[in-house]
Amino acid sequence: MRRRLAAVVLLVVPGSVGVGVHASARADHGPLDARHAVRQGSTAVDKSTGPLAGRVIVVDPGHQLGNHNFPAEINRLVPAGGFTKPCNTTGTATDGGYPEATFAWQVSRLVAARLRALGATVRMTRHANRQDRWGPCVDARGRAGNAIRADLKISVHADGSYAAGARGFHVIAPADRAPWTDDIHDSSMRLAASVRAGLEAQGFPVANYVAGGDGLDVRSDLGTLNLSDVPTVMVELGNMRSATEARVMTSADGRARYARGLVAGARAFTDRVPVS
Ligand SMILES: [Zn+2]
Repeated sequence: MRRRLAAVVLLVVPGSVGVGVHASARADHGPLDARHAVRQGSTAVDKSTGPLAGRVIVVDPGHQLGNHNFPAEINRLVPAGGFTKPCNTTGTATDGGYPEATFAWQVSRLVAARLRALGATVRMTRHANRQDRWGPCVDARGRAGNAIRADLKISVHADGSYAAGARGFHVIAPADRAPWTDDIHDSSMRLAASVRAGLEAQGFPVANYVAGGDGLDVRSDLGTLNLSDVPTVMVELGNMRSATEARVMTSADGRARYARGLVAGARAFTDRVPVS
């Protein structure tokens, strides 16, 4: 029970009254409440200036580090967009044991800090990277931008392909599928193209093991994308099983490059959309 309570704490919206942000509880917040709560949670930067002033961006650092310690919790079925899926998975790791959860967490923190410095309000879907925590589930992460009417949501992952020579990043956008993501498909494809350009500008190659070979993928099976009402992509920043890419991911310089690429993608996308 103690561990479960600890997990709920990380789902609390900063500034709220301690309501866990599972799907049922989230409905208790009106959009304005939620947006206000996000702003209260990040007061370090003057939001009135900077190229991303007025923008609200959700950064989802993927799997929680402790997911593997909570099999019952993460295997629970949750809504995923017309079907159910397990709450979460454990993620992958490099051959040296550096977990995807930690990589995504470290890159996401860099991304969030940079976005905030540029004036954006940033909401993270998890606030710790710990072995005694799990989740949030894919449905909560999928909806994370909705009530706060985020400009965009980026979900950060890395892949674990054992295919020989598999390397490179790819950006996954939601399918054109009514009634779930037909409304965000086009905008998400634009976001995906912007993020791809941002990562390519940092010297990262597009994936050589994903169909199409252009660094873009479209999927309808991901709750993290299907439940979003705002433009969203999931990035697989590289293949952790590639020794070459593992060296980049485990270095501070490499993570900073990934973060710069993601921030550039977010900026290029928002530059073409008026502040609402
Ligand atoms: Zn993942």
